[in-house]
Amino acid sequence: MPIKRLPSSNKETDPSASKTIVLLSSCLAGLRTRYDGNHKRKRELLRRLKGSAILPVCPEQLGGLPTPRSRAQIVGGDGTDVLRGKARVINEQAQDVTAQFIKGAKETLKIIRLNGAKRAFLKEGSPSCGTLRSVRGKRDSGPGVTTALLLKEGIEVISVD
Ligand code: SF4
Repeated sequence: MPIKRLPSSNKETDPSASKTIVLLSSCLAGLRTRYDGNHKRKRELLRRLKGSAILPVCPEQLGGLPTPRSRAQIVGGDGTDVLRGKARVINEQAQDVTAQFIKGAKETLKIIRLNGAKRAFLKEGSPSCGTLRSVRGKRDSGPGVTTALLLKEGIEVISVD
């Protein structure tokens, strides 16, 4: 097979060139990326996004964590505090996974920048993707680590529960 070369301007050949590009928590797209190996597919949302180019991303996987993995939560604040070094992310084995969560947030931002996406649909209730975090089984306001970074960088975040 001959190698095809990417034209210098791909607007005419790339059908997604004129589409709105959005980032989506991969578990919402139906990918089994959750800590328990399951997904949270949102069919209605996927129908609504049909005309858009979707980037399904799991920040926790991008941070180097396995799937399935131990459930984690933010201790001592929210995602903004984690980015400032004032709070930590601790999993059920009492391991500190803060570095992986921050790495995943930064890698997610890179994907957004590389693709020119301006909007992210993120899964609620996650210490990465949520805007509400779990504190001792209850929900409290405060962004997850990835949500905090995207908001800080001016990306529109839409919470999906
Ligand atoms: S909520 Fe975010 S971090 Fe958790 S599985 Fe979905 S995409 Fe991954």
